[in-house]
Amino acid sequence: MNINANYDNLEQSYLFSTIAKKVNEYINNNPEKKVIRLGIGDVTLPLCKTVIDAMHRAVDEMGIQSTFRGYGPEQGYDFLREAVRGYYRKHNVDLELDEIFISDGAKSDLGNILDLFAKDNVVLVPDPVYPVYVDTNIMAGREVKFIDANGENEFLPGVNNIDKNIKADIIYICSPNNPTGAVYNKEQLKEWVDYALAQKAVILFDSAYECFISDEKLPRTIYEIEGAKDCAIEFCSLSKTAGFTGTRCGYTIVPKNLGKLNKMWVRRQTTKFNGVPYIVQRGAEAVFSEEGQKEIGENIAYYKENAKLISETLKDCGIWHVGGKHSPYIWLKCPNDMKSWEFFDYLLNNAQVVGTPGAGFGKNGEGYFRLTSFGSKENTKEAMERFKRLFK
Ligand code: PLP
Repeated sequence: MNINANYDNLEQSYLFSTIAKKVNEYINNNPEKKVIRLGIGDVTLPLCKTVIDAMHRAVDEMGIQSTFRGYGPEQGYDFLREAVRGYYRKHNVDLELDEIFISDGAKSDLGNILDLFAKDNVVLVPDPVYPVYVDTNIMAGREVKFIDANGENEFLPGVNNIDKNIKADIIYICSPNNPTGAVYNKEQLKEWVDYALAQKAVILFDSAYECFISDEKLPRTIYEIEGAKDCAIEFCSLSKTAGFTGTRCGYTIVPKNLGKLNKMWVRRQTTKFNGVPYIVQRGAEAVFSEEGQKEIGENIAYYKENAKLISETLKDCGIWHVGGKHSPYIWLKCPNDMKSWEFFDYLLNNAQVVGTPGAGFGKNGEGYFRLTSFGSKENTKEAMERFKRLFK
């Protein structure tokens, strides 16, 4: 047999292992110091009560002959697809039930969707960005082209930032963005939709953080933009919305206007996927209930308070940043022109605060740093006091 040699083209990522190593070393040498982690990319609040109750009921059903369920539909149970459809309706987006596919999270489907595309497509990925987009394409042997996100475009690259020699076929957009927290407005997204339509390209729109958007004018889904159903596939997740990072559930929208792609995705899923567990789907359904929405809203508000505090503190300290308003991420320019890792060490040694070096998300991340709001309120407050002492 021959192995898939494309794997040799993947860049090794030492980002999180290097962080862990440096932090452990520091703690071993300074056991009396309290280290605060503001680099966490995972939620910390537990699942809300309505979700837990729904999953308990579903567990009980599984133990009774008359309500037991075996294999479910690969595309997800109708009760959950209906709930997702209702959620989109709130944003004035009408979807057909068979355009909605329940997934075990956005990451899997972001990788799996590439089964539908030919190898010679030109892929356009913003830099810096969530590394999964690049790596999944490299594994498939596709060449990736980058579009620069930087301070000048406030980390929201537009169509006019595309290199003139590039004709993109597959375009990744992540809004609100990981790692930068920057969010596209409707006009900016419209430009991307128009570009994709003109190029006959597909947009893979990652809306994993849409629930953090609180400004009614900002798009929560790309389908709020006219023409998007003709060119975009959307990936969403309950991971950050409802604390499902360990429970695993998301949804992918493949509009029928995309021609064969909807049918191809059905074929792909029915061949390679056997659906999300019934118990999890009942929990996910509860997220969309009135009570569920209220409860997850409280958790999101908790994280957003932390983000606001971080953003206000940075402003107070005169540190340039984006994000934090409609996102759990805050992306800051390292003070005094420090490099990302230099700032990481400086912050760890002088404030005992851990964040994520921007350089780990792409070349344009050098000189930047990511903080997250997923920590506790107490720790975030204390970390910000330390920031003030250092930088104000
Ligand atoms: N998309 C982005 C931009 C993310 O940051 C993450 C997780 O951190 C995911 C997708 C993965 O989401 P899921 O947990 O649903 O696989």
